[in-house]
Amino acid sequence: HTHTQDLWILDYMEGFLVSKTLFTACELGVFDLLASSQHPLSLEEVALGIRASQDGTERLLAACTGLDLLNTHTQDGHVMYSNTEQSSVYLTQSSPVSLTQSIHYSSKTIYLCWHYLTDAVREGSNQYEKAFGVKSEHLFEALYRSEEEMVKFMQLMNSIWNICGRDVVTAFNLSPFTTIYDLGGCSGALAKQCVLAYPECTVTIFDLPKVVKTSREHFVTDDNQRVSFHEGDFFKDALPDADLYILARILHDWTDVRSIELLTKVYRACRPGGGVLVVEALLCEDGSGPLTAQLYSLNMLVQTEGKERTAAEYTALLTAAGFQNIQVERTGKIYDAVLGRK
Ligand code: SAM
Repeated sequence: HTHTQDLWILDYMEGFLVSKTLFTACELGVFDLLASSQHPLSLEEVALGIRASQDGTERLLAACTGLDLLNTHTQDGHVMYSNTEQSSVYLTQSSPVSLTQSIHYSSKTIYLCWHYLTDAVREGSNQYEKAFGVKSEHLFEALYRSEEEMVKFMQLMNSIWNICGRDVVTAFNLSPFTTIYDLGGCSGALAKQCVLAYPECTVTIFDLPKVVKTSREHFVTDDNQRVSFHEGDFFKDALPDADLYILARILHDWTDVRSIELLTKVYRACRPGGGVLVVEALLCEDGSGPLTAQLYSLNMLVQTEGKERTAAEYTALLTAAGFQNIQVERTGKIYDAVLGRK
């Protein structure tokens, strides 16, 4: 006989209720409103502030309270709401480590793709066509189907490195490498962590022209003297020579064949004695976890052409491209690091 509190299958069944509650509270600006107020707010004040029904707002605030996203106390017979510490840090737009853009992307893009997870598993391919009506012959044409989608994606990519970027760039001592290229460097969040950790290095963000343009305009300010840009297509264009190439969350987008093609180009461009740093969420060799990487691999199925891999699988890809002395460092956080040398 199982007690309901041990029946985690019920939690799994209803897990999406939690996600949607979080998405909605962020979208309606509940946490921003409470952060901008000098004092806790009543239900009436919140409903007015987010321009929503009182009845709906009351239930939403109650659920957020149950999820420890809001604090409540009673004042003159009224329930008053305020942000918890975690909510102020991660769920307000003005916070430097805000997750609101990622939550928005999860809500408006990933959640819609996951509606077709069953089809993705059956077909073994991503679901852009069903979810958004875009054919995905070129993956990033589908991902960047509008300027708005591209910026949202870049914001999603940006936010995690404020939280765990330092761990991945310091997993190995990268100080011997001074000329670094971050291939598919996107918004430059990891490049910034790299120049912070290593005062001698310069990092060039190599990415598609429209990504570089947006990154220059919106993400990397002029005071980042040691971060620069290079527009290009890493499958089609020549790669500049460098001491170290970073491939963070790149290989997980692509098949083994495409990954080896890219890594081989990197190997050829790499200076002797240089290397490649692969940053990914590593799966355990025995398939037992970590759950985050296992779920991310399903996400790669619905959204990309790739998958999450084990350290042995990355080692095999790097070896096939010519890299040697392959070392693996697990950070204990979401993303790990694999270093190969030429
Ligand atoms: N490295 C970043 C990070 O970890 O936050 C971004 C990872 S994102 C999943 C993949 C990146 O690869 C995007 O910035 C995308 O624009 C870039 N990319 C995709 N195809 C590319 C290509 N053919 N040439 C150059 N960059 C490409």
